[in-house]
Amino acid sequence: MQLKEVGEFGLIDLLKDNTIFDSSSVVVGIGDDAAVVLPAPRQLQLLTADMLVENVHFKLSTTAPWQLGYKAMAVNLSDIAAMGGIPKHAVVSIAIPQQLELEFIKGLYEGMKEICREFSVNIIGGDTVSSPHGLVINVTVAGEVEAANLVRRSGAQLGDLVVVTGTIGNSAAGLDLLTRGNWEDYSFAWPLVTAHLTPRPQVKVGRALAEIGATSMDDISDGLASEANEIADASGVGIVIRESDIPLAPQLYEAAALFDKKPVDYALYGGEDFQLLFTIGPEQYQRLTELDFDIKLTVIGEVIDKQAGVLLIDKEGRTTTLKPHGYNHFR
Ligand code: ADP
Ligand code: MG
Repeated sequence: MQLKEVGEFGLIDLLKDNTIFDSSSVVVGIGDDAAVVLPAPRQLQLLTADMLVENVHFKLSTTAPWQLGYKAMAVNLSDIAAMGGIPKHAVVSIAIPQQLELEFIKGLYEGMKEICREFSVNIIGGDTVSSPHGLVINVTVAGEVEAANLVRRSGAQLGDLVVVTGTIGNSAAGLDLLTRGNWEDYSFAWPLVTAHLTPRPQVKVGRALAEIGATSMDDISDGLASEANEIADASGVGIVIRESDIPLAPQLYEAAALFDKKPVDYALYGGEDFQLLFTIGPEQYQRLTELDFDIKLTVIGEVIDKQAGVLLIDKEGRTTTLKPHGYNHFR
C-alpha cells in the first residue's frame, strides 16, 4: 500500500499501538499536542538526539526497514548508556519520500518497538512529514540518572585503566561488506554485518559503571582513536593504548584480509561500534569484573599525564601519537 492512501493521520494511527512499554511514567503518549511524562523525583534528566539521513547514514539497498528502525533507536539508547543513565522515552520524527511503501514505515516501527520493548522505553510522540529527497529519521530519547551516578567524559584520573566493552571495528568491517554487496558468500560476514545494522546499546554495563564509579565514559560512534582523544581532551589527561590489547573479533581479521586493510584500523578509525570506552580506577575495575555481563570487558591502556598526549604502542613496541581521524561530516 502507498502512503498517500492512508495519509499522515492514517499512518500515525497505524503506528501508535504498542508504543508504551513502561506505563508507570507516561501520563499522555501519542495523540495529543505534546506527550506528558512523570519524571522520577530527584533524578537528572538526560536528553539526546540522533538523526539518520538516507545516503549519508544508510542506504535502503543494504538495510531492512526493521534493522533501520532498530538502529535509529539503538544509537540514542547508547548515548544514554554512555552517561550511566536509564533510557525512558523516545520521540520519533520522520521525513518520508512519497514513493516509499507503507510496509516500509511499518517495518521501521517494528524495529524500533522491538528494541524499545527490550529496554522498556516508551515511544511517546513525534512528527511525520513528507520529504522531496530521501528518508530522514530523527529520534530523541529522554533518560534519567541519579546525580551521584552521572558519568561524563571529563573525569578521567591519572592511573585509571582504559577499558572497552565487546570487540571493536566490527561495524566498519560490516559496512565494507555491505558496500561490496555479496557478503552472504562469506561465512565470517554475519556478525560484522549485524554489528553494523543492529548495534546493541550497552545499557546494562553503563548502569553498572555508573554505580561502581567509572571516572569517564563515551560510546564508540567515531572509532577508538577519536573517542580516546575526546576523553583525554575533556578530562585534561593523556591516554596510552596498547594495540595488542585492543579486542578484535576473529571474523574481523578475515574481512580485513579480504579488503587488504589492517584489522586494527577498523577499530581505531572505523566507527558505529556503539561499545563503551571508559576509564576507571583499578579497585573499581576489580569490582566490576566480579559482576556478570553478556559482553566481555578488556583493559586496553591507562590514563597518563596530559603532556604525553594520546598514544598508541604498536605490536612492535613503537609509540606513536594516536590522531582522531574518525568520520567527520563536514570534512
Ligand atoms: P501536532 O499537529 O499537534 O504537532 P501531529 O498531528 O503532528 O500533532 O501528531 C499527532 C500525534 O501523533 C502527536 O501526539 C505526535 O506526537 C504523534 N506523532 C506524529 N508523528 C509521529 C511519529 N512519526 N511517531 C510517533 N508519534 C508521532
Ligand atoms: Mg497540535
